[in-house]
Amino acid sequence: MAKRITVFLIAVTIIAAAGCSSGHKSSRPALPPGGGGTGTGTGTGTGTGTGTGTGGTYLEFDYIWAIGGGSATAAQLEAVKNNIQNLSNGLYAIGQGQQYIRKVTIRNNSSGGDIVTPVSVVASGKLGGGLWAKTSLGPDGWYITCGGLVDSYTFAHEHGHKEFALAGGVRKEEYTGSGCACVMSTGASGGRMQYCDDSNHNTADYSFDSCWTAIRSSTQMEHTDGNYSSGSGSQPITEVVIVN
Ligand SMILES: [Zn+2]
Ligand SMILES: [Zn+2]
Repeated sequence: MAKRITVFLIAVTIIAAAGCSSGHKSSRPALPPGGGGTGTGTGTGTGTGTGTGTGGTYLEFDYIWAIGGGSATAAQLEAVKNNIQNLSNGLYAIGQGQQYIRKVTIRNNSSGGDIVTPVSVVASGKLGGGLWAKTSLGPDGWYITCGGLVDSYTFAHEHGHKEFALAGGVRKEEYTGSGCACVMSTGASGGRMQYCDDSNHNTADYSFDSCWTAIRSSTQMEHTDGNYSSGSGSQPITEVVIVN
């Protein structure tokens, strides 16, 4: 009984983009949409997802990944490509088998895109300057800026901001205060490679909803609070195309 998700649409009116004052915790990744900054405007993001298979409800993400500010070498592009399956597998794991990246088109020496990597950090996992990665609102919607070899935890953190407006459905963070047991926190603040739910969300520090509550309200993904069993089925393969 494959469920189908036909459209995943975000329409946001932003007064102030996620208040991430990059107070960078050190140990594990997932760093703040630091440069998100403040801005006004309207962003509309569209994407399509098609449910497939028999394993559950899938959100399938198709992304343009732009390498900006110059050209990466063929070897660098290949390394970015080879890292992407790992990013998809991370999303698949924390979504308990209900989401993955279906296709990525890497565009060399390009601008715009759902994911942007300055060529200066194409061979790095971080953006540098103390910043791991960030999520910002552009003319075409929310996009991630990250190193070409970003790790799956940091990517899942930014993906949570971009696609589900986590944390709380309002793009807050869960590494302030005592943190939360989820990917929207950091390793230094008890972060874990999962979305928090109503069984473990830190309600003492955060008045907004848990990640799973926010995700369930905006998608067809399902989760039973307290149940972190992995989904059945194998990790879907991500198609990656390089456009020079
Ligand atoms: Zn959370
Ligand atoms: Zn939480």
